[in-house]
Amino acid sequence: MNNLQMFGKTTTDSNLKSKTQFMSNQNQICNSCGSTKSKLACESCQTSVCKNCIQFIDDERFVLNPEITKTILHSAYCPNCFEKEVAPIEEKYKQIATAAESILVYDKIQGKETRLLKRLEKPVFAKQCTDRKIALLRLAYFAAEAGFNGIIDVEIKSDKIRNGSYQTTIWSGSGIPTHIEPKKIIKDRSLTKNPN
Ligand SMILES: [Zn+2]
Ligand SMILES: [Zn+2]
Repeated sequence: MNNLQMFGKTTTDSNLKSKTQFMSNQNQICNSCGSTKSKLACESCQTSVCKNCIQFIDDERFVLNPEITKTILHSAYCPNCFEKEVAPIEEKYKQIATAAESILVYDKIQGKETRLLKRLEKPVFAKQCTDRKIALLRLAYFAAEAGFNGIIDVEIKSDKIRNGSYQTTIWSGSGIPTHIEPKKIIKDRSLTKNPN
């Protein structure tokens, strides 16, 4: 029996409860796509929105800079409000995240190779990351955001966190954003694993 049939049978007392339940879970028309199965609402404009159209804001969305999540007022948006309130922020985030992927990265142990590069910027930090790659990409994100093409003296650490019987690993890192001129990189052959 679907909800509509339940709604039609409201003549007896036993069905009154069903009606109340139905009303509290009432499907609304999605303001965006017109679906009649919308049970959610946009937190910004309060209009009904279905689960296919709603946009949730969570830390995963801005994984390379979770601080962005805190600047967004609501956690669920209809497509209209998302377009106005979140899309420009997400667009900028994606541009920097893409730039972060081509940032040049040198580890602290490569200090010999990077010794001619300037270290004028304050170090940047990535804390409590779920994996090593995210920690590294977060550092690169900060460098890209500040207009640099590289990050040096990079150190990535892992810590085992015990929570009752459950153990997990979190990653953190630091590095110094800088402008890397390839001609200032000194090739240190002692570091290359392949002797050729
Ligand atoms: Zn919809
Ligand atoms: Zn809205």
